[in-house]
Amino acid sequence: MFVNPYTFVPLPERVKRDLPRGHLSLTDGGLSGWFDVVWRFDSDYLLPQDGTPPGETGAVLEIRGSTVKGAVRAVHEVLVDGCLRVFDDDALPVHRETAVQHSAWALAVVSEIDQVTGAVTAVQDCDAVVWIEMAQVHRVVGPDALRSGGRLRLLAGLPPGPATLSPADPTLTEKDRGGRVRLRGDVELAMDPDGEEWVFHVSDGHARRKDRPYYVAAGRRSQRVRQVEPGAWEVFRRESRGSGDGPAKQTSVTSHGTPVDPTHPSWPYADVEFRKQSVGRRRCADGWLGVGDTVWVSRGSGPVRRLKLAMLWRAQGSHPAARRVGASDEEVDKGPSSSPLPCVDPEWLCPTCAVFGSADTGGKRRKAEQRSYGAHVRFGALRSVDPDEREAEVAVTSTEVPLPPLGTPRPSSGMFYLSHAGINVD
Ligand SMILES: [Zn+2]
Repeated sequence: MFVNPYTFVPLPERVKRDLPRGHLSLTDGGLSGWFDVVWRFDSDYLLPQDGTPPGETGAVLEIRGSTVKGAVRAVHEVLVDGCLRVFDDDALPVHRETAVQHSAWALAVVSEIDQVTGAVTAVQDCDAVVWIEMAQVHRVVGPDALRSGGRLRLLAGLPPGPATLSPADPTLTEKDRGGRVRLRGDVELAMDPDGEEWVFHVSDGHARRKDRPYYVAAGRRSQRVRQVEPGAWEVFRRESRGSGDGPAKQTSVTSHGTPVDPTHPSWPYADVEFRKQSVGRRRCADGWLGVGDTVWVSRGSGPVRRLKLAMLWRAQGSHPAARRVGASDEEVDKGPSSSPLPCVDPEWLCPTCAVFGSADTGGKRRKAEQRSYGAHVRFGALRSVDPDEREAEVAVTSTEVPLPPLGTPRPSSGMFYLSHAGINVD
């Protein structure tokens, strides 16, 4: 018995809906009756926390009929091409990025936020980015002081005398295979009031390869201001949601409205370590950014279309779940016709809803209109019985086992499915 059979069976290509027969009578050849069913557990059954203590002779195991009904309904859906009763058609999956074009991104400093909503409305993007090995950075700014958004005037301290840190100078920098401009390992940095202003960006070290050095991104400050599209901020908020740091209440200003920049005592940060060494502090990915915070922005001259906190970050999928199961915009709006979206109209039900019942849970109904259809089947409680003498109820004894951690189901993940027939045909 499976709670979600769509992990290994394809979705129905077409759901046929019709007027259900109703509950008025058993005319037209209708039948009524019941089955006694013996269920056998194929795997261990997880008892609730307040179940029988392990090892003690317990009571007769009783499982509510509604628990079984949901699972039987799922199997019925698969067998007769019913709708997906429990389904969030708006869900837009967010995935971890696997590859990135470094040249498409610029480091930027947040220069303006909306005082009411906290949305980032403008940034100043850096005109160059140089990746500097952690040890080289630590010679001018130690791990205690290094943080995202920290600014320094820097020169390349080359003999015979310090020179401007120019990213285009081949004696100072080189390009790596990923297209990043890196400071050469033999170049020493020097803090100098005559140098240009650079801003550092520190990000989480967990996802980085442990056999390579940690490089800190440094951006050369420019005064160029770019507006941020409102849509870019919304997507950033959505993509931040899966982060372990958040979501948090507004952190870009204090409760008194004072801006929280990277030097403010309330700046939300996390310590970054790499190979057991302290790197510095990164800004928490709590879904907010304050003036002075660093962020990666899509490179270009027009308004910023995307914001992210790390080069390899998260990316929102472009098709909501409804589109992934083949529903048209009209079906999302008005209710399904032939797609597997959950039935909403009690006079237009799939074969599974016509038997197991239907409830409009989408919240789209007008004026609390009643849009449910009662089930034709009821499941009584399951009680544990003797395997040989099925009339005799017996008590069960439980044992304690360590449970593997449960992850979040990822229905949008390709390897979830053995067959892709009928899915994502476009
Ligand atoms: Zn249905």
